Amino acid sequence: MGLKPGLKIKIANNAGFCFGVKRAINLAEKTADKECKVYTLGPIIHNPQEVKRLEKKKIRILTDINKIKSGSIILRTHGIPFNLHKKLIKNKDINIIDATCPFVKRAQVIMKQLSIDVKSKAKTVIIVGERVHPEVIALMSYSNNDKCVVIENVAEAQNFKCIGDLNIVSQTTQTPGNFKNIVEVLKKHHEVKVYNTICKATFDRQKSAEELAKSVDLMIVVGGKNSGNTTRLAQICSANTDTYHIETVKSIKKEWFKNIDSVGLTAGASTPDWIIEEVEKKVKEISMKN
Ligand code: SF4
Repeated sequence: MGLKPGLKIKIANNAGFCFGVKRAINLAEKTADKECKVYTLGPIIHNPQEVKRLEKKKIRILTDINKIKSGSIILRTHGIPFNLHKKLIKNKDINIIDATCPFVKRAQVIMKQLSIDVKSKAKTVIIVGERVHPEVIALMSYSNNDKCVVIENVAEAQNFKCIGDLNIVSQTTQTPGNFKNIVEVLKKHHEVKVYNTICKATFDRQKSAEELAKSVDLMIVVGGKNSGNTTRLAQICSANTDTYHIETVKSIKKEWFKNIDSVGLTAGASTPDWIIEEVEKKVKEISMKN
C-alpha cells in the first residue's frame, strides 16, 4: 500500500464544539430529559450527524412555528429576529429555551441600546458581517434605526456613501483582519465608534488549523459540509497542505496516507467530539495496520 511506518497524528489545539454550541446542545438535551415535545427552530447546529443523534432523543426540527400548539422550543446559538422572539414568548403554551450564545446576545443588546440612546440614534449603524447570515438578520432586527447597513468586505466599505458619524458592530464570527480593515476604510471619512463583538472561538480554530496545516503532510477537516466555519477551516488548510473535508469516518480512504509522515486533524465549532474521536481512531487503525 506504500504507507510509511510511524505515521504521526496531531490534533489542532482548538478544534470542535465552541462554548456556545456546547451550551445549546446541553440545554436541548436537559430539556428533552424532562419533556417529550422538544423542538429546535431550524437545525440546532450545522452538523447532520449530531442533528440525527438528537432526533433519536426526540429533539425535533421545527420549520414552522404555527405547526405546534405546545411544547418547548430551543432557540439556536445565533439568535432569532426580535419580532419573532416577541411573538413566541406571547404564546403561554410554548416554553422558550433561549440558547442564543451569550456573545451573540451581547451584540444584540448593543444594537438595541444604539437604537434607543438619543446620541447614538442619530448615527448610522454598520454591521460588519454576512448579509444573509441568520445572526446578522437577527442583529439588524434589534435596531429600530432605519440607518442600519451591513458591510461585508473592504470593497463595500470603499463604496459606502453616507454623511455623519458611525457606530460599527461586528458579527461574532467575523475574522479580526476583515473587521479591522473595514473599520480603517470607514475611519477615513467618518467619526466612528467601534463595538468589537467578535468571539474568539472562530479565530482560535482558524489560527490553530493554519499552524497545524503548515507542519503536516495532510490535513483532515471534520464537520458538516453545510457548516460555514468548517468549510472555511478546510480552505485555510488547503492553502497550506493537502486537505480533505469529511463529515464522517466513512469517507476516509487508506490511499490518502500513502508516502506521508504526518496527518493533522481539526474540526469546526459545530463538530461534536464523538465524530472527531471516531476519525482519530480510524486514522490510528490505518497507521497501525501498516
Ligand atoms: S462561535 Fe462564538 S459566538 Fe458563535 S456560538 Fe460559538 S462561542 Fe458563541
